[in-house]
Amino acid sequence: MSETGEAVVPELSDEERRAFVADATAWLDDHADRRASDDTTAGPTASGEGREIALMASAGDIDAEREQIALAKAWRARVFDAGFGWMGGPVEYGGAGRHPDLDHLYRSIEAQYDVPDQRAWNVTWEMVAPAVSAHGSHELKQRFLRPFYRGELLCSQLLSEPEAGSDLAGLRTRAVRDGDEWVVNGQKVWSSYAHLADIGQLMTRTDPEVPKHQGLSMFLLPLESAGVERRPLRQMNGNAEFNEIFLTDVRVPHRNMVGDPGGGWRAVLTTLMSERRAVGSGSGATIDPVDVIAGLAQHLDRTGEPVVRQRLAALHTDRRLLEWLGMRLAEDVAAGNELGPQGSIMKLLANGRNIRLGELAGHLLGEAMVADTGAWNTFAWSDFLCSAPGLRIAGGTDEIQHNILGERVLGLPREPGRS
Ligand SMILES: Cc1cc2nc3c(=O)[nH]c(=O)nc-3n(C[C@H](O)[C@H](O)[C@H](O)COP(=O)(O)OP(=O)(O)OC[C@H]3O[C@@H](n4cnc5c(N)ncnc54)[C@H](O)[C@@H]3O)c2cc1C
Repeated sequence: MSETGEAVVPELSDEERRAFVADATAWLDDHADRRASDDTTAGPTASGEGREIALMASAGDIDAEREQIALAKAWRARVFDAGFGWMGGPVEYGGAGRHPDLDHLYRSIEAQYDVPDQRAWNVTWEMVAPAVSAHGSHELKQRFLRPFYRGELLCSQLLSEPEAGSDLAGLRTRAVRDGDEWVVNGQKVWSSYAHLADIGQLMTRTDPEVPKHQGLSMFLLPLESAGVERRPLRQMNGNAEFNEIFLTDVRVPHRNMVGDPGGGWRAVLTTLMSERRAVGSGSGATIDPVDVIAGLAQHLDRTGEPVVRQRLAALHTDRRLLEWLGMRLAEDVAAGNELGPQGSIMKLLANGRNIRLGELAGHLLGEAMVADTGAWNTFAWSDFLCSAPGLRIAGGTDEIQHNILGERVLGLPREPGRS
């Protein structure tokens, strides 16, 4: 315990870190190809070739996405079976029972290899699994956590509704108990990857008679269930990652409830805190956008310009701050401490960083950013610029993060009219 009463996880020893890096590298060398030297997380070089920036994981059309998911599932199963899938997880639920930092370490090593993109699992690993781990029954954890981390099950969040986004607790999708099952009716919207996912993290109102936060319950809903209709929505970046979901007399077993009836708000808070941290840390991204833009400035021979240098320095500062904040939060998570408003700070900082990245790309590229000529690292920035505003909304808008910080950190009065 620390002086503040919070649990503390001992630091990963250098010896354990070195041994792990050697093991993981040896396994990856045997099972995957290393990326070319100018194609690693260190980012593209001034050579004008290398990986391009991409904020979202979408592969474009639905068939390509399905193929990408199938490849990711097969790869992830091999990783898990080799013992690298869930290092920090408890052994009884399929984890390796080792130091939680090793999960992050493994992903950073894996990013140096040409392996299938697994970013679609960020929702599963960073948002749904933490809620199941913290609030689910022993039986629920045994049934779901291993398949989540082995990549067998992909999750999507069925939280937002047409009339319930920022005010999530105002959601109206109803679940009514019928013996060992609940019958669900309602509509969800903005469910990312739901058209590809196996499981929906479903928020419902199970008791309309009590104050709104107390009448909510969370379920893990198999999305192939009868009565679930998924309709993809196209976005301004050209992808169709979102879905509307219509739920008509859908039956979900009581044993799929996360927590107790009426305990959904506590469970979803765990998800939202983890989500803010995940968006802020850019977790799952295998390429650092600051490296990419620095490579672009070098490639265009613009690094001598004072304004470009200043903007690159500001972006580098953002990167360091995000890294350090991320490390602090990872320690809190590993220690089992409840996440507070730190996730909001990370999310706001990352959103600002994304906007600054897009502005610098525009400054460097000018019209080359909007015309798809096939030239390296040009049009890809257009997709980045069109995707960045979405992250200011997903998982709670910038305004909501400011409200959280105002109330919980600065001690300002609560918003009028909020319960
Ligand atoms: C990229 C992306 C991915 C998403 N993925 C998912 C997903 O997988 N699953 C899911 O369930 N949802 C998802 N969402 C939905 C997202 O959570 C909601 O869009 C978000 O919570 C905002 O809700 P809303 O769209 O209803 O806007 P509203 O809540 O109607 O807000 C409209 C505007 O009013 C402002 N506002 C509202 N209340 C306040 C207040 N109290 N104080 C100050 N300003 C306020 C907001 O900041 C916003 O600018 C996603 C959204 C995006 C953009």
